[in-house]
Amino acid sequence: MRRLALMMFSDINFLTMEESYSENLTPEPDPLSVPKVIGLTGGIGSGKTTVAHFIEEFGFPVYYSDDRAKTIVNEDNGLRLKITELLGNEAYDAHGLYNRKTVAEKVFNNNDLLHRLNEIIHPAVRIDFENWLQRQTKYLVFKETALLFELKLNRECYKSLLITAEDNIRIKRVMDRDNKTYREVQTIMEKQMPEKDKVRLADCVIHNNTNIDDLKDQTEKVIFGIE
Ligand code: ATP
Repeated sequence: MRRLALMMFSDINFLTMEESYSENLTPEPDPLSVPKVIGLTGGIGSGKTTVAHFIEEFGFPVYYSDDRAKTIVNEDNGLRLKITELLGNEAYDAHGLYNRKTVAEKVFNNNDLLHRLNEIIHPAVRIDFENWLQRQTKYLVFKETALLFELKLNRECYKSLLITAEDNIRIKRVMDRDNKTYREVQTIMEKQMPEKDKVRLADCVIHNNTNIDDLKDQTEKVIFGIE
């Protein structure tokens, strides 16, 4: 179910430069003033959110794709309309809030519906990210998304940063965090891209197998080492 939610809430691509800047009206952007986007990713329980918070502590902005998706499905009326057209009024509850559980149930065994839902949500998140990016002033910004490699978003990033940890450690951490059973976490994990494939694709890797202090140290070294 977690994977399902992530699939529903992860965006696809940034606008291309051609799309972002119209032909004659807008001057060419100064490449030095465009922030470099680092894609931050990791499987379930890897510690990517913890790392994202450290990154913010170190003064760099982080765009949380999944969190933003959860917000815009409620705030963007155009999006709400499209989702309702696809899934019916029950996609939103009596208070008008997006009903994740109902939506997840509807699309769980229906790949076509899931695909069509993603085609509605992903572009909206992409635009939201672009708007966010334009407001950033730091030279480095981070985009946290669980599906960086699955959706090939790494191709749109300056670099990718993967957080990984041994399976048993990740399972234990998620069991503690979410009150799930070993098997439940393992099932989610098995549906995600294998860690070895992610490690192969990533530009930078943080191995989060020890403790929080070590994770913070590694994060600091990696982000200030990005050239
Ligand atoms: P998900 O994709 O499932 O949301 P995540 O990759 O964002 O997970 P976190 O939520 O950052 O992972 O971490 C999972 C849990 O493990 C959290 O409860 C976090 O506090 C804990 N944790 C992360 N890293 C460490 C560590 N080095 N030592 C101890 N606990 C950790």
